[in-house]
Amino acid sequence: MTIATSIPSLFVSHGAPDLPLCECPSREFLSQLGQQLPDPAAILVISPHWMTSVPTLSTAPQMRAIHDFGGFPQALYQLQYDAPGLSIELHQAIAAQLKAAQLPMATDPGRGLDHGAWVPLLLMYPDAQIPVAQLSLPAHWQPEQLTRLGKALAALRAEGVLILASGSATHNLWAFGGRTLGSPVPDWVQGFERWLIETVEQGDIERLLSYLQAPYAKENHPTPEHLLPIFVALGSSGNKPGKLLHRSYTYGIFSMAAFSFASE
Ligand code: ZN
Repeated sequence: MTIATSIPSLFVSHGAPDLPLCECPSREFLSQLGQQLPDPAAILVISPHWMTSVPTLSTAPQMRAIHDFGGFPQALYQLQYDAPGLSIELHQAIAAQLKAAQLPMATDPGRGLDHGAWVPLLLMYPDAQIPVAQLSLPAHWQPEQLTRLGKALAALRAEGVLILASGSATHNLWAFGGRTLGSPVPDWVQGFERWLIETVEQGDIERLLSYLQAPYAKENHPTPEHLLPIFVALGSSGNKPGKLLHRSYTYGIFSMAAFSFASE
């Protein structure tokens, strides 16, 4: 195994919880993505399904999957992700970086992996051998603050830590009802997604930070939490332009767009 010396950060869209069971291009994409990247020494996931007032690091020595959803096929509840947690040295390194950036941090030794974390991890690294932890999404932080959080984590990339920001490029659950996996993609979904891809790839940070001004922003993100992790990935690259890795849709309303962010 070749351990990465510096690894791009990622923003991936996890869509609906049933992604591991779905026959769709985004599942295929994530299943291949892990093999296409240098092997990380460890993985730190930021997911909208764990929100707290200050960034909180999950420090359990052994992780487990939390099935934090209801109403899906039973097979989904059988899936597990028993990866080891991060080393104490990495816990200390993360705490030191946040402290140096004058950002608060708490720890939670009892927390497992929510589906925003374990669903992409299961597809990318099905062996569950790579140590993993989550850093919670601070609930009331603005995009600019989240880029500073990402910047504080940037040094970990040189240690081979993959910063995996998980969310959804578009995410309006209120529009979910009655749609099926292959439902047509409405103009309002494509309009925001197009803007997001252009703005990320141009590296227009000011515009990205003001995403609420974008076309159909409120229609796609009536609440912001599924987009916000992208700002942590962005900040961890030094606010450099991102690269689109994948684009497809599930249920018409979820853009499954994924981006990489590297500082080189
Ligand atoms: Zn989600």
